[in-house]
Amino acid sequence: MHSQSHHFSRRTLIQATATGLFATYLGLKADPAAAVTDLTAAQALQRLKDGNKRWVNNKLEHPDLTTTRLKEVAKGQNPFVAVLSCADSRVPSEIVFDQGLGDIFVTRVAGNFLDDNILGSLEFATSVLGAPLIVVMGHSRCGAVQAASKAVTEGTVFPGHLADFVDAIKPAVLSVKDQKGDLVDNAIKANVLRNVEKIKLARPIIAKLVDDNKVKVVGARYELDTGEVVFFE
Ligand SMILES: [Zn+2]
Repeated sequence: MHSQSHHFSRRTLIQATATGLFATYLGLKADPAAAVTDLTAAQALQRLKDGNKRWVNNKLEHPDLTTTRLKEVAKGQNPFVAVLSCADSRVPSEIVFDQGLGDIFVTRVAGNFLDDNILGSLEFATSVLGAPLIVVMGHSRCGAVQAASKAVTEGTVFPGHLADFVDAIKPAVLSVKDQKGDLVDNAIKANVLRNVEKIKLARPIIAKLVDDNKVKVVGARYELDTGEVVFFE
């Protein structure tokens, strides 16, 4: 269980200001019960690493899954991390990081790429809810990246809206097309790193939080076979 201290930290002030701004945009009153996490980005990252170690070693602790926690976070959320991951059914953040209710603000889309809706969600998680860390997590044998790779190497055309996520991932595939090694593996990493960079540079909100050292953005890859998350630091 992490600290639920509600003391007035620097981040609380920042969050209060951001919440106020957001509330002004919406014409709403800010939720006074929503306190931000006290964790730094480094501590948040360590918490994910510790949780993933428990998952890999089959030593789950299932934190924050009590009815006490349910009631606590019903009043307001203060997730310590925002994760952009693939919609793949085998990559659920709360399970692979052994976390519970109110811990992780999750955005998921096949191929874990950034679009404006995802970006807005990440801006909300950081500037309003106060999460100090964003993780972009790809995974081994990602079907979306495999499809984008086929579109590049074989000219495969995908029907309906499958073409939309394929198009979004294609630039990552093209960027590693001439590299040695496995094209899909290289593209999975390139896709993560491209989206990490896009998030870091996303003005006006996240770019400023990153510049001010209030938010860190890191990439990662989940291994379907072992359950291990490898961070690209
Ligand atoms: Zn995937």
